[in-house]
Amino acid sequence: MTWIDIPEDSPFGPDNLPLGVFRLGDQEPRVGAAIGNLVIDLAPVASAQMLDGSQLFAEPTLNAFLALGRPAWRATREWLLDLVQNENDRDAVEPHLIPQSAVTMQLPFKVADYVDFYASEQHATNLGRLFRPDAEPLLPNWKHLPVGYHGRAGTVVASGTDIVRPSGQRKPPGADAPEYGPSQRLDIEVELGYVVGSPSTLGKPVPVGAFEDHVYGVVLVNDWSARDLQAWEYVPLGPFLGKSFATSISPWVVSLEALKATKVPLGRQEPAVLPYLAGDDLTNFDITFEVSWNGELVSSPPYKDMYWSPAQMLAHLSVNGASIRTGDLFASGTVSGPDKDQRGSFIELSWGGREPLTVKGEDRTFLQDGDEVTITGWAAKPDGSRIGLGSVTGRITPALDR
Ligand code: MN
Repeated sequence: MTWIDIPEDSPFGPDNLPLGVFRLGDQEPRVGAAIGNLVIDLAPVASAQMLDGSQLFAEPTLNAFLALGRPAWRATREWLLDLVQNENDRDAVEPHLIPQSAVTMQLPFKVADYVDFYASEQHATNLGRLFRPDAEPLLPNWKHLPVGYHGRAGTVVASGTDIVRPSGQRKPPGADAPEYGPSQRLDIEVELGYVVGSPSTLGKPVPVGAFEDHVYGVVLVNDWSARDLQAWEYVPLGPFLGKSFATSISPWVVSLEALKATKVPLGRQEPAVLPYLAGDDLTNFDITFEVSWNGELVSSPPYKDMYWSPAQMLAHLSVNGASIRTGDLFASGTVSGPDKDQRGSFIELSWGGREPLTVKGEDRTFLQDGDEVTITGWAAKPDGSRIGLGSVTGRITPALDR
């Protein structure tokens, strides 16, 4: 319950309270919490109440807040819940409610390191069939470790940032030599991104059981991918320029606390995983995404059946002693379900470009200049109520001449 007026279909109910960084006019960017169609400007509210650490909400990124760790995250959530639930706080908060339509959302945190996984069995199988039609779709390591790669943190961009069509090398089927030019197979990847708050110590792996001590929450991720560049360059060291030109994330970071009731048990893993990846209470989230291509709904990928749990991803990425830092982002990999309208990339939806989709009456395979893609998502509680993740959007602009 809350004294704030929230539209029925809002992704941001009184039990969500995601944090982001907003800019109002020419003022410095600062931290806000979303509720309904509004942003709570947290710095003045926290300062007036002499909250410990209130100055962190005046920062232009969430990093200093993220670094505080789980006890402080929980205390902040309790404070926020009280602000919106308690009528007595109304006079203190109401002057600091700003319509979301009046602000510009920024990248919510300075991204430290970025890792991208490949945790959907359906997606890995589909891509295996498309990229290696004559081989077993899943490579022998896939069910023994969460496959991933280190991406480019510096090109993680805020939702709404235009995406310039990348150019690069590709080798068309049957050609003798590679050529250079704008990507002709520009694609999306629907993913969930995990945001690291508490760092770890170099040399010391993070066990699966410590996931919630280190990870603050989640964002939506669109891992833009140039399939023609990727297909030519990826052997033998993996994704590189076909991925690194841009990755878009949603502006509101939804906390694990808010997602608690949306957890579902991890599915069965066979063969059994090694002990460092094992746990009795491994979970996923009951999240559904929706992909709109120029405003037309083309896919609804489900997250809950992902093969690897995020706690296993974190344990694996640190098992060699690599430390994690405040602001690290690790993404799940493309989320694809078993049905055709649950595929999380256009290369899967159009089956390598051979089965075009109808988008606004046109046959489409990969992205054209001017196309806009918006991914929304929400997590479902057992009672059917939702914790919205908001949306991430981006538009393709033409390749630059050179
Ligand atoms: Mn990806």
